Amino acid sequence: MTTAKYQTWIDRWRGSNDPVGACVQATNAMVAEFPERTRVRRHVFGPRCPVTGWPHWWCETDDGDLVDPSASQFPAIFDYVAIDESAPEPTGKCMECGDYCYDTSGACSPACLASLNTYYNGIIADAGMLSPLNTKEIPDG
Ligand SMILES: [Zn+2]
Repeated sequence: MTTAKYQTWIDRWRGSNDPVGACVQATNAMVAEFPERTRVRRHVFGPRCPVTGWPHWWCETDDGDLVDPSASQFPAIFDYVAIDESAPEPTGKCMECGDYCYDTSGACSPACLASLNTYYNGIIADAGMLSPLNTKEIPDG
């Protein structure tokens, strides 16, 4: 439940800030003004992210009272769901399957990395980029 003082602050903040992608800045600014609030990093679920959720920050009190200063960036929020804070931080999403990955390979698993390597090596081979004896002619234009 968003009490009036928090909603007033949110309305003022939104007057000079775009809430899209600004959950970190918004929650930092809110806890600076309202120390009774704690920043919480979890996932929101909504129409754009109904299955995996979307990483997001909001504010809570010790008793779980939730205030989300940048909630208006989402068309709707179905739920706020905790993630395991001791889990490793994802570095991105797998280019093969879309799951989170935790290194800089761009793949979530050896199987996805192998699939990506096969795909990109095929493109490189098709373009003749690996062969020093390339006899393919590159068409003009
Ligand atoms: Zn994958």
